[in-house]
Amino acid sequence: MMTFSAQTRVALSDPEAIIAPVCEHMLEHGGVARVEAGVRILEFSGARARFSLTDHETLVDVEANSLESLYFVRVAVASHILEFAEPAAPTIVWSGDGSELARPPNFQVLRITDVQDITPHMRRITFHGGNVARFAGMNALHLNVLCQHPDLAAPQWPTVGSNGLAQWEDPARRPTLRKYTVRSLDIAAGRLDIDFVLHADAGPGSALAKTAQIGAEIGVIGPGGGGLADADWYLFAGDETALPAIARMLERLPAQARGKAFIEVADKSEVQRLEFQAGINVAWLYRNGAAAGTTSLLIDAMRSMVLPDDGSSIYVWAGCEFATFQQIRSYCRNELGLKKDEHLVVSYWNRGNSSE
Ligand SMILES: Cc1cc2nc3c(=O)[nH]c(=O)nc-3n(C[C@H](O)[C@H](O)[C@H](O)COP(=O)(O)OP(=O)(O)OC[C@H]3O[C@@H](n4cnc5c(N)ncnc54)[C@H](O)[C@@H]3O)c2cc1C
Repeated sequence: MMTFSAQTRVALSDPEAIIAPVCEHMLEHGGVARVEAGVRILEFSGARARFSLTDHETLVDVEANSLESLYFVRVAVASHILEFAEPAAPTIVWSGDGSELARPPNFQVLRITDVQDITPHMRRITFHGGNVARFAGMNALHLNVLCQHPDLAAPQWPTVGSNGLAQWEDPARRPTLRKYTVRSLDIAAGRLDIDFVLHADAGPGSALAKTAQIGAEIGVIGPGGGGLADADWYLFAGDETALPAIARMLERLPAQARGKAFIEVADKSEVQRLEFQAGINVAWLYRNGAAAGTTSLLIDAMRSMVLPDDGSSIYVWAGCEFATFQQIRSYCRNELGLKKDEHLVVSYWNRGNSSE
């Protein structure tokens, strides 16, 4: 028996044609499905959704063991139904628990308390407030920063609509979301640091960092994604956007961990002092005038490594520009033959395209 529950009744012209793919896509994020007396049931860790179909209507019951999990399962159901019902836009109104949520539970407002350039193109912004403990885990490294629309005088924060989705008072000028890593945090002081790359062709994220003022309020949504798996031997690879994540993971590794980290930066002036206990050798790779996202430095360096074959468990982590991400992921899977739980390769940005 789960503690929180909510329900919605959605009118659909062909419920089966919409609900079948909705369930399939919801399961991409994990979970198991079963059918009981014609009712589709999806079970996730800590949450459950039940879909009862009639000719022109679907009754959805969701349950969860926390209000936050209930919020996420309501969002998943509503957003998938709206996506698969297009161009129809069925009305979804939740009743039950969660109706009292004024803001998304993963949203919080932080205040900028310091701005420091730690290298010529890396700006560290310190934030205070909110509940920074949410970002303590190695699976909670990242967040979305709300970059406010430049035409607005006051920041716009999300509310929760009756359909369970985040909504904005002025949707045309809603904030743009950009992903960043919590570089470090001090839970007792309610403080966290984010290191922003000040890159050419600045989008909203880089622009926010460039113009950051002490005292400004910044909304964040998260955490999301990670992470670091247990292993004997590690191989890290990343450009400056992944440097905050690599640095934080290195700090978290036990002293007996061994391995190598390749970090690509513009030049020597971008090198940071990294302090950690683990036996990881860090090699800095310099683009020396080449534009970010145009070199093969990371993949070449990874290819030069001989992975241990003494029975040590291995974990490879990489974060970089999209084209390099594709090469590294293919190398890990097709040439190194790494299993799913032995590597995590993530595209951190896409040259010539905004993160939108
Ligand atoms: C999980 C995750 C964690 C991340 N953590 C960090 C972090 O801690 N610090 C950090 O700085 N970034 C981080 N990034 C990368 C960051 O989200 C992207 O660089 C993002 O594109 C920046 O948004 P923007 O608004 O500045 O530029 P966008 O609007 O996304 O892009 C505008 C233009 O700038 C280009 N561009 C974007 N990033 C770069 C870059 N680094 N160098 C050169 N050109 C670029 C784009 O190709 C585009 O042409 C992270 C990304 C992910 C997925």
